[in-house]
Amino acid sequence: MKYIGAHVSAAGGVENAPLNARKIGATAFALFTKNQRQWSARPLTEESIRRFKENCEAAGYTPDQILPHDSYLINLGHPESAGLEKSRTAFIDEFSRCEQLGLKYLNFHPGSHLNKLSEEDCLARIAESVNLALERTTGVTAVIENTAGQGTNLGHRFEHLAAIIAGVEDKTRVGVCLDTCHTFSAGYDLVTPAGYEKTLANFDAVVGFSFLKGLHLNDGKKIMGSRVDRHASLGEGTLGLEAFRMIMNDPRFENIPMILETPDESRWAEEIRMLMEMVE
Ligand SMILES: [Zn+2]
Ligand SMILES: [Zn+2]
Repeated sequence: MKYIGAHVSAAGGVENAPLNARKIGATAFALFTKNQRQWSARPLTEESIRRFKENCEAAGYTPDQILPHDSYLINLGHPESAGLEKSRTAFIDEFSRCEQLGLKYLNFHPGSHLNKLSEEDCLARIAESVNLALERTTGVTAVIENTAGQGTNLGHRFEHLAAIIAGVEDKTRVGVCLDTCHTFSAGYDLVTPAGYEKTLANFDAVVGFSFLKGLHLNDGKKIMGSRVDRHASLGEGTLGLEAFRMIMNDPRFENIPMILETPDESRWAEEIRMLMEMVE
């Protein structure tokens, strides 16, 4: 089964996210469990948690179909202790919120070395941040997203993802999410059939498909290897529809949430329908 959806709004409360997902015909969704641009948030209320679970159940969404995303402010590999502490505290809170909502994943961006730390040390620091969050919570898997490699962001090489996983103690609670735009911008072909197969074989050899817990389905505005993160609506960017047709017919992407983060949300319902129709 292919689970397809979008990163929907949780404005007014997390309980609205499954309702917004249902409106666009999604069989998966992503959400922020707090305002992604603020460091702290009020705790989730009992009422909000109860209604989130009820709305998910009524619309047929199980935790396998939901991929919550953490705040953009968090840098788990921060080179300085104050920034690192702040990030770790916020990350643990994100984990607790997912735990309260009965969710099984938390998708996050690895972190940035800010030119003050070696790549190796930064990756080790990120793994340690994940260990701290896993120790304090139960049932939620840390899902590392690959990046385009913009600025000093790590996570654009499959080897970076593997290095973080290697440093995480509980391998049953760590996984990865591949973003199609980021993968392509980082220099991995997903467009030609041969390039697509080569990229995924490389991913399997370096990271392993057993760790794949989600996909972000985005076309991109920039060329392969640009290392710039700019999403485009499906079919309007440098990846093109054929890349998504290959994904939709690839059995390696069954039963994981596949999430649109494309810029025009008025087109999500149409994009989801188009993806579903691509399945042969
Ligand atoms: Zn993404
Ligand atoms: Zn992106």
